[in-house]
Amino acid sequence: MQGIRQVANAELEQLIRPSGYFRQKSARLKTFVAYADERYGGSLSRMFSQPVEDLRDQLLKLNGVGRETADAILLYAGKLPVFVVDSYARRIFERHGILPAGAKYEEIRGEVESALGKNGVSERAEHFNEFHALIVEAGKRHCGSVAKCDGCPLQPLLPAKFGGQVQRSIGSRAVKK
Ligand code: SF4
Repeated sequence: MQGIRQVANAELEQLIRPSGYFRQKSARLKTFVAYADERYGGSLSRMFSQPVEDLRDQLLKLNGVGRETADAILLYAGKLPVFVVDSYARRIFERHGILPAGAKYEEIRGEVESALGKNGVSERAEHFNEFHALIVEAGKRHCGSVAKCDGCPLQPLLPAKFGGQVQRSIGSRAVKK
């Protein structure tokens, strides 16, 4: 964080320019560092040792931090057991009949976390991390706006009404047809 703290806005903008929306992102990075400094004396380890839901609430109050960003910070920077709900996860869960179209962010997060959340903190964080990474990969390779189910590793889990063999839900509610 020291680099972000010290670098001038204009230089930070140029450094992150390739990522797009660089002015907005630069301002948000500065906001995040100012928050960490003010609340935790600049210590990320102090920040990430807070109860997850308390810290999540704090992050959500920062300008420009929505649920997906807050959860990505908690999971990837804090190594905390939080599932990140992105558009790939929504699409795959919906197409597989796991959750209804239009399910709320917190509903999806809660379902996944309770289904995968029975181990210790670091083990759960690893599971959520890997699960999210696999969903992103399946989404990028196969499950875009048009589903390319042939060759997709999730095709065996596709519900019958979409041409698959099974009807499956998350965790203990899984049902075979
Ligand atoms: S089988 Fe793959 S491409 Fe088809 S709906 Fe499922 S995740 Fe998407």
